[in-house]
Amino acid sequence: MNSEFDLKLIVRKNIWELKPYSSARSEFDLYGLLGQPLISSTEGEHIDATSQNSPLGEMSAGQRGLTLLDANENPESAQNLNRYPDPLQSELKAELAKQKRISKDQIFIGNGSDEAIDLLYRIFCEPGKDKALICPPTYGMYEVSAAINDVEVVRVPLKKDFSFDLNEILNRVQGDRKVKMIWICSPNNPTGNALLKADLKHDWQTENYTRGGMMDMPFSPEFEQEMLENQRKLDQLFGNFNGIIVVDEAYHDFTDNVSFINRLDDYPNLVVLQTMSKAQGLAGARVGFAFAGKEIIELFNKTKPPYNVNELSQKAALQALKNKTATEKSIAQLVTNRKWLADQLTQFDFVKKVYPSEANFILAEVENANQLYNYLKDNNVIVRNRHSQIPNTIRFTVGTRLECENVIKTLDKLN
Ligand SMILES: *Cc1c(COP(=O)(O)O)cnc(C)c1O
Repeated sequence: MNSEFDLKLIVRKNIWELKPYSSARSEFDLYGLLGQPLISSTEGEHIDATSQNSPLGEMSAGQRGLTLLDANENPESAQNLNRYPDPLQSELKAELAKQKRISKDQIFIGNGSDEAIDLLYRIFCEPGKDKALICPPTYGMYEVSAAINDVEVVRVPLKKDFSFDLNEILNRVQGDRKVKMIWICSPNNPTGNALLKADLKHDWQTENYTRGGMMDMPFSPEFEQEMLENQRKLDQLFGNFNGIIVVDEAYHDFTDNVSFINRLDDYPNLVVLQTMSKAQGLAGARVGFAFAGKEIIELFNKTKPPYNVNELSQKAALQALKNKTATEKSIAQLVTNRKWLADQLTQFDFVKKVYPSEANFILAEVENANQLYNYLKDNNVIVRNRHSQIPNTIRFTVGTRLECENVIKTLDKLN
């Protein structure tokens, strides 16, 4: 555990002292109220011109006899988006809290997780002074967001096998107090492997128990050893860094590993990112999450724009979350497609290596990535050329079975 960690010491002074903008909807917490049962049932009957549709609340403002004249909206409008959305996305957070087994005040919801990435820089890194550590090749936004916020990037590349260089990371952060954040993308984009595992023995015990097994299920000595080793690694990383460690789990739904959300109580300097854009199928809605201790979430809340997640997206996200069975089915289908696509790709002579993937994409090393990319593009198949990051690699998003067959058929014509 990190006895040294003191949040105040690593937050930017202006953010720590920031008095946030107080919006109409935060001053009068309409949505908090709407989630509560009616006090007087007679007032609930009349609906007049001030009534509003509140698809997120159980009971509309009009139904409660509320006259809402505090936010300069247009109640005469025929639009059903005429009211500002819930600034703190209370209903969506309640569902997430239930599903992730955490509390609502450990959740930040953003306009995509890209918003959370930007906010993290703005909360913790003094422009022109502080630094952030990344492990390339990885997700490009960590570096772009750093540049926008005038934050220098320290690079500790992944090892040749794309594993995580823990010793080198510890060396670099211990010798440099200006490093305020470490970014870990796991499973990593574009390599597809898990860089760090949150799995500890008690997770597996709980998992077994919830499936009807015994709490003290015996494990093999190898398993015990692996869990201990993982625990040691995590304590070493989280305990020896007096800054924020962000674990980006955008692709978590495609792995069998335990989420780092399970480690929030162990490590006060941990921030976990997840998104509705990938497995949850809502890339168009722009909804992403940061999970952390409640002091960190409070910093997010006061730094974010007041109405950062719009009403339509909040509704869509809530609906998708509640429709868990459909999502799980689609994920299982993608995992099947992933295996099929990987097996097929391996058979081409010009494919040198297909990297194992715990995400919804496959990275392959080919003879000539630029040439192959252009050939596919000319045949209306668009993939991601990752040559500039990792020489001669192409990243294939796993599509529907038909789309996967289409890529393979197109490649077949090359042989
Ligand atoms: C796609 C992706 C994101 C972005 O998610 P949004 O919620 O759509 O902004 C974040 N991190 C990684 C690693 C990604 O690949």
